Amino acid sequence: MNINELSIKLAYEKLRAGEISSYELTKSCLDRIENIDHKLNAFLAVFRDDALKQAKEIDEKISKNEDLNYLAGIPVAIKDVILMKGKKNTCGSKILENYVASYDATVIKKLKEAGAIIIGKTNCDEFAMGSSTENSAFGSVKNPYDLERVPGGSSGGSAAAVASDQCIYALGSDTGGSIRQPAAYCNIVGLKPTYGRVSRYGLSAMASSLDQIGPFTKTAEDAAWVFSVLAGTDENDSTCMTEAAPEFFNNIYPGVKGRKIGIIKQGFGEGINENVKKQILKEMEKFEKLGAKVSEVEIPHLEYSLPVYYIIMPSEVSSNLARFDGIRYGFSQVKHAPQDVKDLLDVYMKSRAKGMGDEVKRRIMIGTYALSSGYYDAYYKKAQKVRTIIINDFKKAFEKYDVLITPTAPDIAFKLGEKINDPLSMYLSDIMTVSANVAGLPAISIPSGFVNGMPIGMQIFGNYFDEKKLFETAISYELYNKWRDVKPKIN
Ligand code: GLN
Repeated sequence: MNINELSIKLAYEKLRAGEISSYELTKSCLDRIENIDHKLNAFLAVFRDDALKQAKEIDEKISKNEDLNYLAGIPVAIKDVILMKGKKNTCGSKILENYVASYDATVIKKLKEAGAIIIGKTNCDEFAMGSSTENSAFGSVKNPYDLERVPGGSSGGSAAAVASDQCIYALGSDTGGSIRQPAAYCNIVGLKPTYGRVSRYGLSAMASSLDQIGPFTKTAEDAAWVFSVLAGTDENDSTCMTEAAPEFFNNIYPGVKGRKIGIIKQGFGEGINENVKKQILKEMEKFEKLGAKVSEVEIPHLEYSLPVYYIIMPSEVSSNLARFDGIRYGFSQVKHAPQDVKDLLDVYMKSRAKGMGDEVKRRIMIGTYALSSGYYDAYYKKAQKVRTIIINDFKKAFEKYDVLITPTAPDIAFKLGEKINDPLSMYLSDIMTVSANVAGLPAISIPSGFVNGMPIGMQIFGNYFDEKKLFETAISYELYNKWRDVKPKIN
């Protein structure tokens, strides 16, 4: 095994035992990027010199036996929607192609304090809008298991980078599934924490009531460790929990004995690939063998999650993206070609027309329409009401169940180009994941087998702020099921 293939836990143990150095570990990831990323296009920026310098500093601290966080010296990649001071933050968009962040996001501050080695920024759908990473202004990312297929999206760069061992873990953002769906397509673990668990300060906002930052890791235990560093209160984000977050480092005991696991009925209904259903149901039997009580549960209004999401999300998008006006941030037609600009409206229109891609424009238009007077009550307000009904459905289910399960995505990773001209069919790939964002629940995707040679994921939902049970369930499963060991053949 090459050291860039290690999990966080194994890398941590080897670093502390003096078997490897952070310098070697970091260099092995950077070399891997150099050797294979031209095939995948997962990275938009790589910080080779900074990373190697920091790694040396951490090695010195380790040799002096300094008290360090368990993430110290371990390489991580960051989705290019999370601000890092002094580095470009493109959001996968032309309009921010040369925008340099002036401060660190709270999660970046936390990672830096923990001594994490940030090795680069990863490619994504423009402003995190998409399910395939084909909406990036900087070219699509490829799936490491099949270069003709998408890695999922919008955090496809982070997922492909972890799956192909170009880094030990990565961060992404999840507004409707952008961590879990690419994790499933790439055979890794992806976690969306409870809404309000992790600060959104410094995350370029897509839809503020749905966005959460979370980790991509090789194991569920690693996800619990990273979660413990990221989570917690933040005075810069008023939607962040004030209660202290739990600490799961070496402090989580797998086990599902006596736990009640609900299989969400609609997750196995129409429109879901038969082989995906079969494989996930087969895996559910393993929970029974581990002593869990598995039964079917209905979330009566689940089918409305997708339509609710596709009203609330674009509404918030249209409002959040109003700040990209050709004046305050990024690309401006005034600077680019002043002779073409007659008046202020021209600045707005021409800067946005040139700087933004089709999917972003589409969503701004839908959102602006849904929020306009006369339609606000019919669309936005109605969607918010249905959102409450869905929340109540889940609350009721969690009175009886500890965790709930569906496939993460309705199908395996699709071919590049297959859905790009059909937005509705692209939106349908979010059908399993959006409900967690609509309801604000935590959910994790874990590797659960292969269909037609491509990986699939199982999605586990937990109750509000009960990430603990999520991790306990996921870790119990992965102890006995090593799907993650089936690595992509990319050299
Ligand atoms: N694929 C979903 C969308 O296009 C989710 C995006 C996300 O989670 N950022 O909106």
